[in-house]
Amino acid sequence: MLCRGHRMRTESEPMEVLHHPSPALKGRAREVDAASDVSLRDLVRAMAETMYDQNGVGLAAPQVGVDKRVIVFDVEDRLAALCNPVITEFGEETAVEDEGCLSVPGITVPVERSTHVVCSGHTIEGREITIEAEDLLARVLQHEIDHLDGTLILDRCPPDVRKSVIRAYNEANNL
Ligand SMILES: [Zn+2]
Repeated sequence: MLCRGHRMRTESEPMEVLHHPSPALKGRAREVDAASDVSLRDLVRAMAETMYDQNGVGLAAPQVGVDKRVIVFDVEDRLAALCNPVITEFGEETAVEDEGCLSVPGITVPVERSTHVVCSGHTIEGREITIEAEDLLARVLQHEIDHLDGTLILDRCPPDVRKSVIRAYNEANNL
């Protein structure tokens, strides 16, 4: 997910972020075995560098062409990574906010999301963790986990503005 914001350096080089309509952004990414997959540490470092390089607050592995259920995010100056994240509880209260996406550049889309979620997953060391999230963090988690299931903000777009959003995207990207 895109946000104007700060930027932190890591020692990896940024990766190329795929844009809609890349087929890699569709479909369901594969679960990872965090305890045995030694490549995850490098992947997470490179994803974090890419996210900061593009002023993102979150990035999912399919956005850099990697078919793994891994996300990174940085809300309130804390970098975190989650493997196999699942939202286990969606709060009843929802809010509509404009979201941008590094894979859908040039536009923002109003998306309705729960303002409170509970998310469980694994750390890159394979430890189980549960996160209770509100507001921006809740929104970022829902946005990034959507990517793991091949869902983009264009798919979350309200029907009445969908046509104009897609037209704006195509114009912004010379499609
Ligand atoms: Zn996105």
